[in-house]
Amino acid sequence: GATIQLEDLTKLYPGNPNPAVENVSMDIRAGETVILVGPSGCGKSTTLKMINRLIEPSSGRIRIDDEDVTDIDPVKLRRKVGYAIQSSGLFPHMTVAQNIALVPRMVGWPKARVRDRVEEMLDLVGLDPREFHGRYPRRLSGGQQQRVGVARALAADPPVLLMDEPFGAVDPITRDHLQDELIRLQHELHKTIVFVTHDFDEAIKLGDRIAVLRERSHIAQFDTPEAILTN
Ligand code: ADP
Ligand code: ADP
Repeated sequence: GATIQLEDLTKLYPGNPNPAVENVSMDIRAGETVILVGPSGCGKSTTLKMINRLIEPSSGRIRIDDEDVTDIDPVKLRRKVGYAIQSSGLFPHMTVAQNIALVPRMVGWPKARVRDRVEEMLDLVGLDPREFHGRYPRRLSGGQQQRVGVARALAADPPVLLMDEPFGAVDPITRDHLQDELIRLQHELHKTIVFVTHDFDEAIKLGDRIAVLRERSHIAQFDTPEAILTN
Protein backbone atom coordinates (compact mmCIF):
# COMPACT_ATOMS: atom_id res chain seq x y z
CA GLY A 1 0.00 0.00 0.00
CA ALA A 2 0.83 3.66 -0.14
CA THR A 3 -0.16 6.63 1.96
CA ILE A 4 -2.35 9.35 0.46
CA GLN A 5 -2.56 12.84 1.85
CA LEU A 6 -5.06 15.41 0.73
CA GLU A 7 -4.01 18.86 1.88
CA ASP A 8 -6.54 21.67 1.85
CA LEU A 9 -7.94 20.70 -1.54
CA THR A 10 -10.30 23.01 -3.35
CA LYS A 11 -11.76 22.57 -6.82
CA LEU A 12 -13.71 25.20 -8.71
CA TYR A 13 -15.04 24.25 -12.11
CA PRO A 14 -15.05 26.97 -14.74
CA GLY A 15 -18.35 28.85 -14.89
CA ASN A 16 -19.51 27.65 -11.48
CA PRO A 17 -18.99 30.02 -8.52
CA ASN A 18 -19.61 27.24 -5.97
CA PRO A 19 -16.62 25.01 -5.32
CA ALA A 20 -17.21 21.31 -6.01
CA VAL A 21 -14.70 20.57 -3.24
CA GLU A 22 -13.60 23.06 -0.59
CA ASN A 23 -10.67 22.91 1.83
CA VAL A 24 -10.62 19.16 2.20
CA SER A 25 -7.80 17.50 4.09
CA MET A 26 -7.52 13.80 4.73
CA ASP A 27 -4.77 11.38 5.69
CA ILE A 28 -5.15 7.89 4.33
CA ARG A 29 -2.88 5.21 5.73
CA ALA A 30 -0.99 2.62 3.77
CA GLY A 31 -3.13 -0.47 3.23
CA GLU A 32 -6.29 1.20 4.43
CA THR A 33 -9.68 1.25 2.70
CA VAL A 34 -11.49 4.56 3.02
CA ILE A 35 -15.08 4.79 1.85
CA LEU A 36 -16.51 8.11 0.73
CA VAL A 37 -20.25 8.41 1.25
CA GLY A 38 -22.41 11.46 0.77
CA PRO A 39 -25.20 12.94 -1.32
CA SER A 40 -25.01 13.05 -5.07
CA GLY A 41 -23.06 16.11 -6.21
CA CYS A 42 -21.08 16.53 -2.99
CA GLY A 43 -17.77 16.19 -4.80
CA LYS A 44 -16.83 12.53 -4.30
CA SER A 45 -15.92 11.88 -7.95
CA THR A 46 -14.10 15.19 -8.18
CA THR A 47 -12.00 14.21 -5.17
CA LEU A 48 -11.06 10.86 -6.68
CA LYS A 49 -10.19 12.42 -10.02
CA MET A 50 -7.85 14.87 -8.35
CA ILE A 51 -5.96 12.03 -6.67
CA ASN A 52 -5.01 10.49 -10.03
CA ARG A 53 -4.68 13.87 -11.78
CA LEU A 54 -7.55 13.43 -14.18
CA ILE A 55 -8.35 16.94 -12.99
CA GLU A 56 -6.13 19.51 -11.31
CA PRO A 57 -7.11 21.07 -7.99
CA SER A 58 -7.67 24.83 -7.95
CA SER A 59 -5.61 24.88 -4.77
CA GLY A 60 -4.13 22.53 -2.23
CA ARG A 61 -2.15 19.42 -2.92
CA ILE A 62 -2.04 15.66 -2.94
CA ARG A 63 0.80 13.41 -1.93
CA ILE A 64 1.10 9.70 -2.54
CA ASP A 65 3.84 8.11 -0.44
CA ASP A 66 4.94 11.63 0.43
CA GLU A 67 5.46 12.55 -3.21
CA ASP A 68 3.43 15.39 -4.68
CA VAL A 69 1.34 13.89 -7.52
CA THR A 70 2.33 16.79 -9.77
CA ASP A 71 5.93 15.55 -9.48
CA ILE A 72 5.13 11.94 -10.37
CA ASP A 73 5.81 10.96 -13.97
CA PRO A 74 2.40 10.33 -15.68
CA VAL A 75 3.18 6.74 -16.66
CA LYS A 76 4.41 5.98 -13.16
CA LEU A 77 1.21 7.48 -11.78
CA ARG A 78 -0.89 5.13 -13.99
CA ARG A 79 1.16 2.25 -12.66
CA LYS A 80 0.68 3.38 -9.09
CA VAL A 81 -3.01 4.22 -9.14
CA GLY A 82 -5.72 1.96 -10.56
CA TYR A 83 -9.06 3.60 -11.32
CA ALA A 84 -12.45 1.97 -11.80
CA ILE A 85 -15.64 3.93 -12.36
CA GLN A 86 -19.36 3.45 -12.47
CA SER A 87 -19.66 3.83 -16.24
CA SER A 88 -16.67 1.48 -16.76
CA GLY A 89 -14.80 4.02 -18.92
CA LEU A 90 -13.69 1.34 -21.37
CA PHE A 91 -12.24 2.45 -24.67
CA PRO A 92 -14.88 1.47 -27.23
CA HIS A 93 -12.43 0.91 -30.08
CA MET A 94 -10.44 -1.62 -28.03
CA THR A 95 -11.33 -5.21 -27.21
CA VAL A 96 -11.80 -6.35 -23.64
CA ALA A 97 -8.26 -7.79 -23.66
CA GLN A 98 -6.75 -4.62 -25.08
CA ASN A 99 -8.54 -2.53 -22.48
CA ILE A 100 -7.25 -4.70 -19.64
CA ALA A 101 -3.76 -4.86 -21.16
CA LEU A 102 -3.48 -1.10 -21.51
CA VAL A 103 -1.56 -0.10 -18.39
CA PRO A 104 0.62 -3.24 -18.16
CA ARG A 105 1.69 -2.58 -21.76
CA MET A 106 2.20 1.10 -21.14
CA VAL A 107 4.58 0.33 -18.30
CA GLY A 108 6.46 -2.20 -20.38
CA TRP A 109 5.44 -5.62 -19.12
CA PRO A 110 6.63 -8.41 -21.46
CA LYS A 111 3.94 -9.65 -23.86
CA ALA A 112 3.60 -13.11 -22.36
CA ARG A 113 3.16 -11.71 -18.88
CA VAL A 114 0.51 -9.29 -20.14
CA ARG A 115 -1.37 -12.12 -21.86
CA ASP A 116 -1.37 -14.22 -18.68
CA ARG A 117 -2.43 -11.25 -16.62
CA VAL A 118 -5.39 -10.48 -18.89
CA GLU A 119 -6.63 -14.06 -18.41
CA GLU A 120 -6.06 -13.91 -14.68
CA MET A 121 -8.00 -10.65 -14.38
CA LEU A 122 -10.92 -11.94 -16.45
CA ASP A 123 -11.08 -15.00 -14.21
CA LEU A 124 -10.96 -12.79 -11.16
CA VAL A 125 -14.02 -10.80 -12.24
CA GLY A 126 -15.83 -13.97 -13.33
CA LEU A 127 -15.71 -13.59 -17.10
CA ASP A 128 -14.56 -16.54 -19.22
CA PRO A 129 -11.44 -15.34 -21.11
CA ARG A 130 -12.27 -17.50 -24.16
CA GLU A 131 -15.64 -15.86 -24.49
CA PHE A 132 -14.78 -12.29 -23.62
CA HIS A 133 -11.21 -11.33 -24.47
CA GLY A 134 -11.88 -10.38 -28.10
CA ARG A 135 -15.22 -8.65 -27.54
CA TYR A 136 -15.80 -4.97 -27.90
CA PRO A 137 -17.37 -3.10 -24.96
CA ARG A 138 -20.59 -2.32 -26.86
CA ARG A 139 -21.27 -6.06 -26.95
CA LEU A 140 -21.21 -6.36 -23.15
CA SER A 141 -23.96 -5.71 -20.63
CA GLY A 142 -23.52 -2.79 -18.23
CA GLY A 143 -22.51 -5.14 -15.44
CA GLN A 144 -20.00 -6.95 -17.65
CA GLN A 145 -18.50 -3.62 -18.70
CA GLN A 146 -18.06 -2.68 -15.06
CA ARG A 147 -16.35 -6.00 -14.37
CA VAL A 148 -13.92 -5.38 -17.21
CA GLY A 149 -13.38 -1.88 -15.80
CA VAL A 150 -12.43 -3.42 -12.45
CA ALA A 151 -10.16 -5.94 -14.21
CA ARG A 152 -8.43 -3.09 -16.02
CA ALA A 153 -7.97 -1.11 -12.82
CA LEU A 154 -6.30 -4.09 -11.12
CA ALA A 155 -4.25 -5.32 -14.08
CA ALA A 156 -0.92 -3.63 -13.36
CA ASP A 157 -1.18 -4.51 -9.65
CA PRO A 158 -1.21 -0.89 -8.46
CA PRO A 159 -0.65 -0.16 -4.75
CA VAL A 160 -3.51 2.37 -4.83
CA LEU A 161 -7.04 1.74 -6.07
CA LEU A 162 -9.60 4.47 -6.64
CA MET A 163 -13.06 3.06 -7.17
CA ASP A 164 -16.11 5.16 -7.95
CA GLU A 165 -19.22 2.99 -7.49
CA PRO A 166 -17.44 0.20 -9.34
CA PHE A 167 -20.07 -2.46 -8.61
CA GLY A 168 -23.20 -0.34 -9.07
CA ALA A 169 -24.44 -2.10 -12.20
CA VAL A 170 -23.18 -5.58 -11.30
CA ASP A 171 -25.68 -8.29 -10.39
CA PRO A 172 -25.94 -9.05 -6.65
CA ILE A 173 -24.18 -12.43 -6.72
CA THR A 174 -21.23 -11.12 -8.72
CA ARG A 175 -21.12 -8.02 -6.54
CA ASP A 176 -20.78 -10.19 -3.48
CA HIS A 177 -17.95 -12.11 -5.14
CA LEU A 178 -16.18 -8.88 -6.19
CA GLN A 179 -16.54 -7.43 -2.69
CA ASP A 180 -14.91 -10.59 -1.31
CA GLU A 181 -12.12 -10.30 -3.88
CA LEU A 182 -11.57 -6.71 -2.81
CA ILE A 183 -11.33 -7.79 0.84
CA ARG A 184 -8.75 -10.37 -0.23
CA LEU A 185 -6.74 -7.64 -1.99
CA GLN A 186 -6.90 -5.59 1.20
CA HIS A 187 -5.67 -8.41 3.40
CA GLU A 188 -3.16 -10.14 1.14
CA LEU A 189 -1.80 -7.30 -0.94
CA HIS A 190 -2.42 -4.37 1.42
CA LYS A 191 -3.80 -2.12 -1.28
CA THR A 192 -4.72 1.40 -0.30
CA ILE A 193 -8.26 1.86 -1.53
CA VAL A 194 -10.49 4.91 -1.79
CA PHE A 195 -13.97 3.73 -2.63
CA VAL A 196 -17.11 5.74 -3.39
CA THR A 197 -20.48 4.11 -2.81
CA HIS A 198 -24.12 4.96 -2.15
CA ASP A 199 -24.63 1.57 -0.58
CA PHE A 200 -24.29 1.78 3.19
CA ASP A 201 -24.01 -2.00 3.61
CA GLU A 202 -21.16 -2.01 1.12
CA ALA A 203 -19.47 0.82 3.02
CA ILE A 204 -19.73 -1.11 6.30
CA LYS A 205 -18.53 -4.34 4.71
CA LEU A 206 -15.50 -2.90 2.92
CA GLY A 207 -14.38 0.13 4.88
CA ASP A 208 -11.63 0.39 7.47
CA ARG A 209 -12.83 3.96 7.81
CA ILE A 210 -15.80 5.78 6.39
CA ALA A 211 -15.78 9.46 5.50
CA VAL A 212 -19.27 10.92 5.60
CA LEU A 213 -19.28 13.95 3.33
CA ARG A 214 -21.55 16.95 3.04
CA GLU A 215 -21.65 19.59 0.32
CA ARG A 216 -18.27 20.49 -1.16
CA SER A 217 -16.89 17.31 0.38
CA HIS A 218 -16.79 18.81 3.86
CA ILE A 219 -16.03 15.91 6.15
CA ALA A 220 -18.84 15.49 8.67
CA GLN A 221 -17.48 12.29 10.17
CA PHE A 222 -14.41 10.17 9.53
CA ASP A 223 -14.31 7.00 11.56
CA THR A 224 -14.47 3.22 11.67
CA PRO A 225 -17.72 1.48 10.64
CA GLU A 226 -18.28 0.49 14.29
CA ALA A 227 -18.00 4.09 15.46
CA ILE A 228 -20.20 5.36 12.63
CA LEU A 229 -22.85 2.76 13.44
CA THR A 230 -22.97 3.74 17.11
CA ASN A 231 -23.27 7.45 16.37
P1 ADP B 1 -20.41 13.34 -6.64
O1 ADP B 1 -19.39 12.42 -7.19
O2 ADP B 1 -20.39 13.41 -5.15
O3 ADP B 1 -21.80 13.06 -7.16
P2 ADP B 1 -19.14 15.32 -8.34
O4 ADP B 1 -17.72 15.38 -7.92
O5 ADP B 1 -19.47 14.56 -9.57
O6 ADP B 1 -20.03 14.83 -7.11
O7 ADP B 1 -19.67 16.80 -8.53
C1 ADP B 1 -19.49 17.82 -7.55
C2 ADP B 1 -20.07 19.12 -8.08
O8 ADP B 1 -19.30 19.58 -9.17
C3 ADP B 1 -21.50 19.02 -8.59
O9 ADP B 1 -22.17 20.20 -8.25
C4 ADP B 1 -21.33 18.88 -10.07
O10 ADP B 1 -22.44 19.40 -10.75
C5 ADP B 1 -20.09 19.74 -10.33
N1 ADP B 1 -19.32 19.25 -11.49
C6 ADP B 1 -18.82 18.00 -11.66
N2 ADP B 1 -18.12 17.92 -12.80
C7 ADP B 1 -18.18 19.14 -13.38
C8 ADP B 1 -17.66 19.70 -14.58
N3 ADP B 1 -16.90 18.97 -15.41
N4 ADP B 1 -17.92 21.00 -14.84
C9 ADP B 1 -18.65 21.74 -13.99
N5 ADP B 1 -19.17 21.28 -12.85
C10 ADP B 1 -18.95 19.99 -12.54
P1 ADP C 1 -2.87 -6.45 -30.66
O1 ADP C 1 -3.05 -6.99 -32.05
O2 ADP C 1 -2.94 -4.96 -30.61
O3 ADP C 1 -1.69 -7.02 -29.94
P2 ADP C 1 -4.61 -8.31 -29.31
O4 ADP C 1 -6.09 -8.29 -29.29
O5 ADP C 1 -3.91 -9.39 -30.01
O6 ADP C 1 -4.17 -6.89 -29.86
O7 ADP C 1 -4.09 -8.31 -27.82
C1 ADP C 1 -4.38 -7.28 -26.92
C2 ADP C 1 -3.83 -7.68 -25.57
O8 ADP C 1 -4.64 -8.73 -25.07
C3 ADP C 1 -2.41 -8.16 -25.66
O9 ADP C 1 -1.65 -7.53 -24.67
C4 ADP C 1 -2.48 -9.65 -25.40
O10 ADP C 1 -1.45 -10.04 -24.52
C5 ADP C 1 -3.83 -9.85 -24.77
N1 ADP C 1 -4.45 -11.04 -25.35
C6 ADP C 1 -4.57 -11.34 -26.65
N2 ADP C 1 -5.17 -12.51 -26.83
C7 ADP C 1 -5.47 -12.98 -25.61
C8 ADP C 1 -6.10 -14.17 -25.11
N3 ADP C 1 -6.54 -15.14 -25.88
N4 ADP C 1 -6.24 -14.29 -23.77
C9 ADP C 1 -5.80 -13.34 -22.96
N5 ADP C 1 -5.19 -12.23 -23.36
C10 ADP C 1 -5.01 -12.03 -24.66
